[in-house]
Amino acid sequence: MTNISYQPTEGLTYDPEDERYWSLPALDMEIRRAFEICHGCRMCFKYCDSFPSLFKLLDERYDGDVRELDDADIAGVMDACFQCKLCEVQCPYTPRDGHEFQLDFPKLVHRYNANKRLREPATLRDKVLADPDATGQMARLSFGMANAMNKVPLHRMLMEKVLGIHKDKLLPDFASKTFEAWADENGRIQQDPPAEVVLFQTCYVQNNEPDIGKDVLEVLDKNQVKTACVRGLVCCGMPAWEHGDLTTLRENAKINLSILYPHVKAGRRCWWSTQPAV
Ligand code: SF4
Ligand code: SF4
Repeated sequence: MTNISYQPTEGLTYDPEDERYWSLPALDMEIRRAFEICHGCRMCFKYCDSFPSLFKLLDERYDGDVRELDDADIAGVMDACFQCKLCEVQCPYTPRDGHEFQLDFPKLVHRYNANKRLREPATLRDKVLADPDATGQMARLSFGMANAMNKVPLHRMLMEKVLGIHKDKLLPDFASKTFEAWADENGRIQQDPPAEVVLFQTCYVQNNEPDIGKDVLEVLDKNQVKTACVRGLVCCGMPAWEHGDLTTLRENAKINLSILYPHVKAGRRCWWSTQPAV
């Protein structure tokens, strides 16, 4: 059995603008090359189920030969990735490190999911999880019922059957009022603010935990950083991209950039409310 080379194949790209990104044979070459490198390295065995499931298949079923992995095996490894990015931080072979192997495992998973999404319609679960702003709006219209129902075991069993969200998964509560509505009522929204910083509150703060955004404002105020909030920001698109939905990612990015970019041009900084203090 000849080993697969660790060197990039002709299919290497992480750029959706590159036509090779959407070629299944090109993607397959890169997946098997990446799996071969990880099989030889194994440093990331501890982060998630992706790597242990890959190593188990190779050790127990395929005698270490990544060429033997079938579509279902590859799907299982990819599906277990939840994009924490820890392997990319750990890996010494990344483009960020300037390494010749140019391995970026999470971006390879994104590419796999984007290709899958192109060929398979999104499931109901993917659609619901991909749009936290719509889910938040529906939950607010339920006047607290959504939060109450999410704690009812029978309802959670039904959700698991219909949506595929595990009945034991802890779900965050929805706020009765968005962060933006609170900011509006409290005079924090200014269209042309004399501010140094404009807050990007994120959809989680907007819909689930507005208090985090309020706390961030309080800290910035205390440090005399003039901070404004703006109207109309949407989810950054990351949950949609997790399921390979590049169209929604781009649409959301365009909306947010059209709102935030004028502030950047005016010399203000954009601050994510979940961004660590630096
Ligand atoms: S980015 Fe994905 S594959 Fe990498 S450690 Fe996180 S969950 Fe695992
Ligand atoms: S992602 Fe990098 S560090 Fe992690 S197992 Fe693969 S080669 Fe090793």
